[in-house]
Amino acid sequence: MPLEPWQEISRIGLKLVNGGLTNSRFGNISLREGGKIYITCTGSMLDEIASDQVVEVDLEGSCPSASSETCVHQAIYRCGDCRAVIHTHSPYSVTLSLVEEDRIVPIDSEGIAFLGAVPVVKGRFGSQELADSVSRALRFHKACVARGHGAFVTGESLLEAYTTACMVEHSSQVGYLVKVFQRNVP
Ligand SMILES: [Zn+2]
Repeated sequence: MPLEPWQEISRIGLKLVNGGLTNSRFGNISLREGGKIYITCTGSMLDEIASDQVVEVDLEGSCPSASSETCVHQAIYRCGDCRAVIHTHSPYSVTLSLVEEDRIVPIDSEGIAFLGAVPVVKGRFGSQELADSVSRALRFHKACVARGHGAFVTGESLLEAYTTACMVEHSSQVGYLVKVFQRNVP
């Protein structure tokens, strides 16, 4: 039996938190079905998503109970044809976004082959500026990182978006560790 949207979101939320990709209280997940978006509620715990913590919203317009970053998800869906969006406050991605000029370039083999450069974009969280900069970057990339904030990734499915979210954080972690290693080893 196919999963309900909230069940798919719940399954991925648990994997994100268990995998250390984001803290339970930070980040949001959405899925598009037809002309509707199913998105986590504001303040929901990503590893404890129940049916009442996912709300249905339109591609435009606000919903008080939806995630405070719903406008970013809506802009992404309006600009492309992806079916899933994941936003995480992944620590290594956030760290590198603060030290890299305008993009994170993977140096690990999987990141080079499957991810490519990850743009670093600006905009205060939940703002129209962030919605514009993220949706623009994701037209040509699978992922981007809002500076000092977190990653936004897309996919044809939540599982695909989850895989990309894993790659972004893994590539960022490897990139960070190599930088530290090179600095400390003469
Ligand atoms: Zn955020």
